[in-house]
Amino acid sequence: MPAQGFGKIEVEVLRRDEISVELVVRGIPLPVLNAVRRIMQLEVPTAAVEDVIFYENNTPIYDEIIAHRLAMLPILSEDALRKLRSPDECYRCFQEPSGMTPEEMSKECGGCFTIMRFQGEAGSEPIVVRAGDLKTDDPDIRPSYPEIPITVIGPGQRIAFDARIRLGRGIEHIKWSPVTVAGTRYVANITTKRVSEDMFSEVEKCVEVCPVKILSFNKEEGRIEVSDIYKCTLCMQCVKKCPPESIDVKPRSDEYILFYESAGQLSVKTIALQAIDILISKIDHLIDQVKSLKGG
Ligand code: SF4
Repeated sequence: MPAQGFGKIEVEVLRRDEISVELVVRGIPLPVLNAVRRIMQLEVPTAAVEDVIFYENNTPIYDEIIAHRLAMLPILSEDALRKLRSPDECYRCFQEPSGMTPEEMSKECGGCFTIMRFQGEAGSEPIVVRAGDLKTDDPDIRPSYPEIPITVIGPGQRIAFDARIRLGRGIEHIKWSPVTVAGTRYVANITTKRVSEDMFSEVEKCVEVCPVKILSFNKEEGRIEVSDIYKCTLCMQCVKKCPPESIDVKPRSDEYILFYESAGQLSVKTIALQAIDILISKIDHLIDQVKSLKGG
């Protein structure tokens, strides 16, 4: 693939729903797009449960299992990014042991976390505790999906706990990653040529091999037609099965597809903006480092 620089940068939405997006990105080299993708997975901060203090749990489900389920809950993080202090500032507050006195702890760790509380017991019937039953001190920082079941409390059983929620990054633990998946793929450059009449029946048949059904044979034009280039997976089946003069498929080097799905903490737009901000701050840091080098 030829080396390329930055051309005119364009972003177009190919497909979008509430939690996922596919973008066509032009004018950005693949390694840079890949850096954005990896920052999305590992470095964009979100809020998640870090530790849980159980005051009571006489159900047969161990504290550790409930704590793990709480930790994996996606927590709405748009406001948490603004309200909670960054993981770097709060690093010491979550170390075991922190090495801080209670006085230092209350001085240094304010704004590092918010609490999510639960207290409940079942009467004569078992009850299912769901994410929506948990109450956070800050209502803007709460579970993204209230229907997620946490545990079951049987008749006569009780549970009470406080869970501390803080900002973190996917590189620390996957529970803080804002995406379930983030990937890039190539866009195909498909060229077709007119074929001689004696090849018509062969070409008509070979286009059926396309798994995403974007190829058809136009008898009047005597050539293969492509309906949606962005659906092409570059599987190369058409190139293998069709006469070499009829079709050629190559990856483009100036256009790529970036797709990702939010795990529910942040909107797809915030995830992209945060990732780009982090990339820019890394480059700024690199510039500062180079500038501080001694000598010319
Ligand atoms: S490379 Fe694969 S997906 Fe693309 S047009 Fe050919 S058969 Fe279809």
